[in-house]
Amino acid sequence: MITQGSCLCGAVQFEGTPSPRGIGICHCKMCRVQSSGPFFAARMEGGVTMTQARGLKWYDASDIGERGFCTECGSTLFWRSKSAAPGDWAVSAGTLPDDAVGPILEHIWADDQPAYYAFADDTPRRTEADCLAGAAPAKPHRAKP
Ligand SMILES: [Zn+2]
Ligand SMILES: [Zn+2]
Repeated sequence: MITQGSCLCGAVQFEGTPSPRGIGICHCKMCRVQSSGPFFAARMEGGVTMTQARGLKWYDASDIGERGFCTECGSTLFWRSKSAAPGDWAVSAGTLPDDAVGPILEHIWADDQPAYYAFADDTPRRTEADCLAGAAPAKPHRAKP
């Protein structure tokens, strides 16, 4: 189902079909600096179509990815791989209607997760090395209490 997403102020608006399979949660330090917590990454089937890009700016964050944000309100919006197809971006789940976001599918950069929070789900935890190698998800395990 086509769903609309937006930053806080509306200077960035977009649409697409969130994957019903669910979302990935990234615990890397860069995501946590940018957004205060882990990045809840939704994938849009068929990519993202921008309907308002006035406020959109891309930050060249690392060798592998860029981070899109709104220059007018500061909302964290997108992550995109430098090698991925155009529009195949990870979208901040918080920018989408709550009922359009699927369940937690996996955790990435799980070895970067700090001790001050934990998730109780049983989905796979992939380390930075797993992610960089494009490895299959690790065996599911329960997060430490
Ligand atoms: Zn904005
Ligand atoms: Zn991250």
